[in-house]
Amino acid sequence: HTDAILDRQAARESSARTYARWLGAVPVRARGAELETADGRVLLDCLAGAGTLALGHNHPEVVGAIEEVLASGAPLHALDFATPWKDDLTTELLAALPEAFRRTRPRLHFCGPAGTDAVEAAIKLCQTGTGRQGILAFTGAYHGMTLGALAASAGVATKAPVAGLGTDVTRLPFPYALRCPFGLGPHGATVSARYVERLLDDPNGGVVPPALMLLEAVQGEGGVVPAPDEWLRTMRRITERHGIRLVVDEVQSGVGRTGTMWAHERAGIVPDAIVMSKAIGGSLPLAVVAYRGDLDGWAPGAHTGTFRGTTLAMATGAATLRVVRRDRLAERAGRLGAWIAEELRERLAGHPAVAEVRGRGLMLGVELVDPAGAPDGLGVRPAAPRLAAAVRAACLERGLIVELGGRHDSVVRLLPPLVLSDAQAERVVAVLGDVVRTEGD
Ligand code: PMP
Repeated sequence: HTDAILDRQAARESSARTYARWLGAVPVRARGAELETADGRVLLDCLAGAGTLALGHNHPEVVGAIEEVLASGAPLHALDFATPWKDDLTTELLAALPEAFRRTRPRLHFCGPAGTDAVEAAIKLCQTGTGRQGILAFTGAYHGMTLGALAASAGVATKAPVAGLGTDVTRLPFPYALRCPFGLGPHGATVSARYVERLLDDPNGGVVPPALMLLEAVQGEGGVVPAPDEWLRTMRRITERHGIRLVVDEVQSGVGRTGTMWAHERAGIVPDAIVMSKAIGGSLPLAVVAYRGDLDGWAPGAHTGTFRGTTLAMATGAATLRVVRRDRLAERAGRLGAWIAEELRERLAGHPAVAEVRGRGLMLGVELVDPAGAPDGLGVRPAAPRLAAAVRAACLERGLIVELGGRHDSVVRLLPPLVLSDAQAERVVAVLGDVVRTEGD
């Protein structure tokens, strides 16, 4: 049965499908951090809907919210009408925003269902408001697959064949200490900030006048790279000075995952807009841009869509935000993530295939390198995508789902639910630590 489903999907689905290629299993039931497959295996899910499932799979309060909506006879599709469910979600979302940002009397724009829709909306909002077209975006960035978000993303493979991305994106260096484009290792953050500053001040710097700077406070797909707090503060200062809107993409890092409700909060910066999706929908598709109240210059209909959050997603999203807040899950994510990172560092210390264990909270990455490869000028060995794929496969073999990311697909990523139990965290450490040691030798 399992093989038949896998074979049929392989033959009939788009060749662009990704996760299904390596999962090789058919999930049929799920609860918390566990996925049960059609052939009776139970997998510990550290991908969790690509970072969507803050409360894990099928949390009782999320399921309860769906049942309540269905029992009430609510309109499942309500366009952008005001409904009690949207009212409730709006209240929860506003309450979940950082206090300093709340003081700007933010507005919420409900977008199409995916993170990429919210990125498009944020780009347009800033371009409309400033009358400028330029976008400042970073190396390693991932913002989505629609044209504007794709243009702002860094991955060349997905962009190269696509026409119409425009030329208004200026690519700036993200402070990725390990593989700093300036070759300065840990000093990269300072140099990156200085570079951005000088470039914007240079009338011959070639920068199309920017409407916005778009950044992830912790890059996800780019390989789990947290930006230093001081660097983020510098980006805020620079954008303020140039009248450029600072948009933080919290699609993956938001809703408690990194130890604070929003990843950028740690640096104490107040952005102009926050892009949110994934966890805010509590398993169902939902995407929202929150922006400073005084930026609300859009004409009615300036950015619309048929699907701007369905009633079910609003109910599951509100339920999720309530539980995250009530159960202090951001704190839990911070503590548990720090413990996992520390344990992995200890177990993998000195291993020649491990360049770095890094991340924030429950957004963690282990960057693998080729132990036989010659180190570059900074002493970092070449990326090891084949080893990373072998680690992912061996983890799966032992019942642990992990994903890869990073510039060369050689960072093993963990995005477990924030409700991961201590025992499950111990299993993650034991399996991943063991597998990396075994495969890397
Ligand atoms: N921004 C970030 C930071 C993301 O991680 C993602 C998805 N991985 C997106 C945007 C795009 O979201 P979606 O896939 O829902 O369009």
